[in-house]
Amino acid sequence: MDNQVVLGSVEFGPNGYESARLIMVLGHERCGAVIAAIAAIQTGEPAPGHIQAVVDALRPACDAAARLPGDLVENMVRAQVRLDVRGRDHRLATPGPASRAWPASSP
Ligand SMILES: [Zn+2]
Repeated sequence: MDNQVVLGSVEFGPNGYESARLIMVLGHERCGAVIAAIAAIQTGEPAPGHIQAVVDALRPACDAAARLPGDLVENMVRAQVRLDVRGRDHRLATPGPASRAWPASSP
């Protein structure tokens, strides 16, 4: 997915709704998208439409998770988080329109 689209979606909350004071990023277990991406990677079958871009984006995490013991899906989610945090894109860590929209005195 285009990271600019993701960042724009995150920034929309505090810029589109003045009452939005917190951005919460949620995840969930046993993600169907991750399971489908693993299946596409393992079978080599291309995913339909733009879903292939998601599969391609998740491939490094799948490769990393495949080398680990345990549950492939959970390991892949953790691997993707590590990849994201370690340097794929740190723009969320820098002040942007979302953080500027918050009053400095907000808890
Ligand atoms: Zn999911």
